[in-house]
Amino acid sequence: MRAILLGPPGAGKGTQAETIVKEFSIPHISTGDIFRKNIKEGTELGKKAKEYMDQGKLVPDDLTVELVKDRLQQDDCKKGFLLDGFPRTIYQADALEEALKSMDQKLDYVINIEVRKELLVERAVGRRVCKDCGQTYHTKFNPPSKDGICDNCGGDLQQRKDDTEETVANRINVYEEQTAPLIDYYTKKGILINIDGEKPIDEVGKDIVAKMRNKIV
Ligand SMILES: [Zn+2]
Repeated sequence: MRAILLGPPGAGKGTQAETIVKEFSIPHISTGDIFRKNIKEGTELGKKAKEYMDQGKLVPDDLTVELVKDRLQQDDCKKGFLLDGFPRTIYQADALEEALKSMDQKLDYVINIEVRKELLVERAVGRRVCKDCGQTYHTKFNPPSKDGICDNCGGDLQQRKDDTEETVANRINVYEEQTAPLIDYYTKKGILINIDGEKPIDEVGKDIVAKMRNKIV
């Protein structure tokens, strides 16, 4: 199973990624992890990537593609992989296709978790975190029994600075602008699976697995 996972920030992508990799016994591959590992191990590609990152620059597409390709050639990817956070552009998507072709492989699916922007904003803005134990709550969907106080430990509940309506809406807009062309691209290739991400988390996971297993696009 070779797949890509797409979904806006706050759509529960991390949890669903865990479900998918467990179900299909494939590695979860994110560009962030690849960068960190290569830099830590001091590989040639890692050294190049670090130069850009140290200057606060984005790692260029070509180098990112090389790093991903290198990762996909490792033994644990023989049964497949789940890519997360890559590709981000059509250029990267084309490069990925080329890279896979050179390995006699192709993508099976692109999973697109859909959640309306209003709901993502509502979820994020109501989120509260206990400053002592880290337990999370939601003012509407999962409130503590006493306003602003953690049920677990009695600690104060806080709102994260970047969970304001404006920042969240911004993050989602950036994501949508960036991803819309990829959605078109993979729809045309007939491998895009749209998933209703507004259902309860475990149902979303079941839907994803069922559609991947039964090849429903
Ligand atoms: Zn607490």
